[in-house]
This record gives sequence, C-alpha cells and structure tokens, in this order.
Amino acid sequence: MQPSFDPTAAHFASRYLAAFAALPVAVQYGFAIVFGLVIGSFLTVVVHRLPVMLERAWRAEVDAAIPEASDATKFAAADPYPERFNLAVPRSACPHCKHVLRAWENIPVISYLALRGRCSACGARVSPRYPLTELATGALAALSLYAFGPTWPALAAFGLCAALLTAGLIDYDTRYLPDVLTLPLLWAGLLVNFGEGGFATLHDAVTGAVAGYLFLWCVYWLFKLVRGVEGMGYGDFKLLAAIGAWLGWSALAQVLLIAAVAGAAFGIVATWRKRMRFEEPLPFGPFLAAGGAITLFIGTPLYALLG
Ligand SMILES: [Zn+2]
Repeated sequence: MQPSFDPTAAHFASRYLAAFAALPVAVQYGFAIVFGLVIGSFLTVVVHRLPVMLERAWRAEVDAAIPEASDATKFAAADPYPERFNLAVPRSACPHCKHVLRAWENIPVISYLALRGRCSACGARVSPRYPLTELATGALAALSLYAFGPTWPALAAFGLCAALLTAGLIDYDTRYLPDVLTLPLLWAGLLVNFGEGGFATLHDAVTGAVAGYLFLWCVYWLFKLVRGVEGMGYGDFKLLAAIGAWLGWSALAQVLLIAAVAGAAFGIVATWRKRMRFEEPLPFGPFLAAGGAITLFIGTPLYALLG
C-alpha cells in the first residue's frame, strides 16, 4: 500500500522533528544552545522594553480617562525613549552615547566578550546581565533537550523556562509581573496539557491553575487582615496559577517551598550585605519562577524525601 499524503501542518512538523532527532546528539545540542542564545538575546530586549511600553500604555489610558489630571507633558519630558518604541523598533543602542549597535556588535555573548563588556563608541560599561541572560537561556535550551529528548515537550519546556526567566527579571527590576506574560503562559499551560504527552493531565492542570491562584490569594488576604501588610501582588497569584497549569496541582507545594526558602535566603544575604533594608519587601516572582523551572526538570522528589 502506498503511504497516503498527509497535508496537515502536524505532518510537516513531525517530519522536521524526525529530521532533528536523526542528527548526531552533539549537533542537536549545538542547535539547541545557539537557538537558546538567540532567544536569550531577544529576552533581554523584552525585559528592558516591555515595562516601558506598558507604562506608556497605562499613562495614555489614564490621560484619556481623566484629561484634567494629565501629567503627560511632565512624563514625556522624563521619558528618554523615542516615540516609536516597541520590541522591534528602534534598533538596540548604547544607553550612554546612543551609538546604534551594528550586526556584529549584537551577537549573543560573543560581542560582549570581543568588546570586553564596553560600548565600541564611548567605552561605557555594558551590564554583564545581558550576556548572563543569554547564557542562562542557552543553558535552559540544552537542559530542556537533555531532560525531554528531541521531542515537542522539550520545546514546550524551553518556552516555559524562557517565559519564567523573562517574568522573573521584569518582577525583579520593576516589582511588577505583567498580565501580558502571566495570562498567556497560563493558557499555554492548559493547551500543552490538553492531549497526551504533556507535563500533567488536563484535570491536574486545571486544578493547578485554580489552586495556585487561590492559595496565594488566601495567604495575601490573611496577611493583610491579620498584620496589615501586603507581602505579595496579584501578579504572583497569576504566575503561580500559570505554573500550576503547566505542572499540575501536585507540583505547587514544592514550587512554593523552593520559592520561600530561596526568597528567605536571598533576603538574609541581601540584608547582611547591606544591599537591602530588612523591612524592604522582596519581589516573590523571581523565586516562584525559579521554583517552577526547577520542578519542571527534577519532578517532585521533595515529597518522597518528606515521606
Ligand atoms: Zn556608548
């Protein structure tokens, strides 16, 4: 019997996957790392620009709603970015001298090393966070391939890691977890687990999304009513809901435990090194994101340890 022609996208996609899986393992890792570095380079742009774009959109909404209270001129004077400003426009430039990066100055990690961490035009230091974010994304791509093999779940796992890294960095910088990241991540988690071969059953994913949101919502209100403090924001509830949608409800206790321990350790070290005041609130998002990524790769061995 002749194999029938299947014109669906899934058929083409599975052929690409089969071709990738047939490559030597070292080449697969090479592809994964280069892909991760390039995505990481894009993530640095998102982390830097998305908060600016969101603040502008928010200002415009407020100005439209209450024009008499508008401080648009004052805000425009303090806003150093060009009028057209999104994830693609303008091209990346040195924040000190506005030198527009040429293609060879924009290669992940390599350009940073070749230029010894300085702008080629004015010599201003470039933050090591750019190459570190790129390296971390490359490592997460390799780790996804290692943990899940050359499969679609590996690509999905990498997508989850990239989103968690972006959300964590933005929360660390701005104390704000944008809905435009957390909500699509939640829907994506439910979709990934829709059929067979996801990270959790659809039942556990839906329960995880609801339980993740409700648990932190309850903790938030408990603290607010009992002690009158706001330890978290609504963005944290949505991020844990998204992690629950990806990994299922049974992962949530471990994610929270890792996040709480890592957050406390970070707070103690930061206070001790005088980087922070004791009463200063910590952003919880980076630690939730780390707990989610770790649990994605190691599963939930903590439960076995704790009996
Ligand atoms: Zn410069």
